[in-house]
This record gives sequence, structure tokens and C-alpha cells, in this order.
Amino acid sequence: MSKYQVNQKGYYGNFGGAYVPEMLYPNVKELQDQYLTILDSEAFRSEFAKLLTDYVGRPSPLYHANRLSEKYEANIFLKREDLNHTGAHKINNTIGQILLAEKLGKKRIIAETGAGQHGVATATVCALKGLECVIYMGEIDIKRQAPNVARMKMMGAKVIAATSGSKTLKDATNEALRDWINNPVDTHYIIGSVVGPHPYPDLVARFQSVISAETKKQLQEKTGKSTPDIAMACVGGGSNAAGMFYHFLDEEDVRLIAVEAAGKGVHSGETAATTQLGREGVLHGSRSLLMQTDDGQVIEPYSISAGLDYPGIGPQHAWLFQSKRGEYVSVTDDEAMKAGLLLTKLEGIIPAIESAHALAYLEKLQMDGHPTIVICLSGRGDKDLDNYMNYFRF
Ligand SMILES: *Cc1c(COP(=O)(O)O)cnc(C)c1O
Repeated sequence: MSKYQVNQKGYYGNFGGAYVPEMLYPNVKELQDQYLTILDSEAFRSEFAKLLTDYVGRPSPLYHANRLSEKYEANIFLKREDLNHTGAHKINNTIGQILLAEKLGKKRIIAETGAGQHGVATATVCALKGLECVIYMGEIDIKRQAPNVARMKMMGAKVIAATSGSKTLKDATNEALRDWINNPVDTHYIIGSVVGPHPYPDLVARFQSVISAETKKQLQEKTGKSTPDIAMACVGGGSNAAGMFYHFLDEEDVRLIAVEAAGKGVHSGETAATTQLGREGVLHGSRSLLMQTDDGQVIEPYSISAGLDYPGIGPQHAWLFQSKRGEYVSVTDDEAMKAGLLLTKLEGIIPAIESAHALAYLEKLQMDGHPTIVICLSGRGDKDLDNYMNYFRF
């Protein structure tokens, strides 16, 4: 087993574990006991593979970005998760989890969502499977993200407003956990990133690992070598990065670069650069790095991209950071917006602002020779058009 993967006890180095209230323990224990057996079963694997092909549209292309490569004097490939059904990598995870829920005999699905992307991906798979779906979302986010709320409702989901605290993602997460405690037998909680108590970080990483599994094969076909010199991805909770890194973790000559959102600057007070500012602590059921005050209060994060606006990072990333296997860097709102526009002009691809953070790091990347770089293009920018319009005044 790789030293970068979760151990028997649910830890990555010092990070991870399952810090949950006693009332939640049976739910988490059930998942811990069953997930590997289910994921390894032939029935699960064949259905997962079939839905990824016929419903999501996989494999997603590995596109050689010619004009971007010319500009940066490198051999740049984009892993096109933006072309997936519903427009991002999140669907890989929700498909996997809905099949897991079915095999566990669950009839009801709950999830939390911030900007609504994970809520939409969850409502989508519930419609696909005809399962009851309840999405918790902060009252403020419901107002800010009307189109995604409409999508969820069209697909039959019930959207419940979280009205406590700051009325955003972390409050929605608390409401979802409360629901799960009250409905332990029939309900599965679909977490949207590589965060939460063990086994969620490992579970979600396994579902997203299809990204690097395909990349390896596609690189072999296109370049004659299955590994790149550099693999890059943006990090909110860290699921698209975990998927992009998964099959390269033990290939120590592959540089793994994770790009966080610096917001208005790492030291501006408006940022989501977790590894730069974070200290060890427990958030949403696992031990990791998080932005907190001296007395342990979670600091509200900020990023122009809703998907990176998270005060923590998954435990595997905390471990990759601490062990120095990964390089954790950050770019600002301005740098990301510029990179998003640049990709649009050079390649005719409008990226999600989250993904544009990974692209933006090309400007600062120190590299030798003419490296092969794979970048996870985690999502498409259609959802961000208002943001692009306001920023550039189109
Ligand atoms: C949600 C989201 C992210 C951030 O989530 P991770 O778990 O860090 O991958 C990144 N890109 C897009 C397009 C998203 O929707």
C-alpha cells in the first residue's frame, strides 16, 4: 500500500480519522465496514463503468493545447472534465455514491451544497435512480445561486434552507449532519469532496481516480510515456486534484502541483489559501489543516470562485503537503480571471473559474526544459459567465 494512501485506521499520516458525534458513529461505521467490499464487487464495478461511459460521457478527452503549449514553451495537455454531463468532475463521485447507496439498501439521499454544483450533481443521480433527494443549502447561497436551485428542483430534489450562522456552506453541512443523525437507517449522505470522516476522503478519491487512470492511458497513446513531468489541479476540498494525482502518487518523478485560491491575496484577510495559513484542527469530521483563529474558530474563507471557497482541505492533501510529496501554491482572483480569459482566447475553451486557478499557475511555474504538463480542467465556465461579465465588463 502506498504511504500516501489512507491506512487501516483511516489516517494519512497525522491527518484524517473519523471525529463524529457518537450518534453518527453507526452510520459512519457501516460505511467503513462495507465500502471496500462493495467497490470491489463485480456488480458495482460494471455498473459504475457503464454509467461513466453512457451517462457521463467518459473517457473525457486528453486534449493537447497547442497554442497554450507554444506560449508557455511546454507540452500542455488538458484533462477535459468540463465535457462531462453536468459540466464538471463532481458527477464522477455522485454516480459512485448513488450506486453505493443502492447496494447499502438506502432509499433517501441527502447532501450539502455551497454554490450548488454538488447539489446539482447529487440531484442528477437521484433523478437517474428515482431516489428521494434532500439538499441543504445556506439561505444566502439559495439567493445567490438561483439557476442551480432551479436545476435541483426540476430534477425533483427538495432544497432546504440553512438559516443559522452565516447561512452558507458550513451551516448547510451542519444541517445535513443533523438530518443524518435523525435518519440513520434509510439515508445516505453524499459528501461532495475528499473531506469528512473516514472513509469519505478515500471513497471520493477512488471515484475521482478515473481521471488519472484515463490520463495515464491517454498519455501513453499520445506521447509514448504514461506519466507526465507535472500534474496540476486546483484545490477547494481537493477532489479533482485527488483524482488527478491518484495514480501518480508513487511515481515520485512526477511533480504534483495543487493550486489554492488566494482570493485577494494570501495575507489580505480575504483568502482561501488553506495550506499557507492553515493549522491542524478538526473540521467536518476529520483532522486536517484549516484556517482558524488562535482560539480555534473557523475563519470565513473567500475566493471569487465558489468551488474553492472552503476553509479546509482534505486530509490526504494535508499529508501530501506536510510530507512534501505535493507542491501547494496559490493564485489570486485576478490571476485566475486573466488565465480564464487567456484559455478562452487561445483555445476556444471557457474554463470554470476554479479550473482557471490551475491554469494561472503556468505563469509562475519554474520548469526545466520542455516538460509534459497535464492540467485537470475540472469544469466548464458557463456557470461563471455573470462573474466573467462583471469582472471584464463585457
Ligand atoms: C466544486 C468544484 C471544484 C472544487 O472542488 P474539489 O473538491 O477541490 O475538486 C473545482 N472545480 C470545479 C469546476 C468545481 O465545480
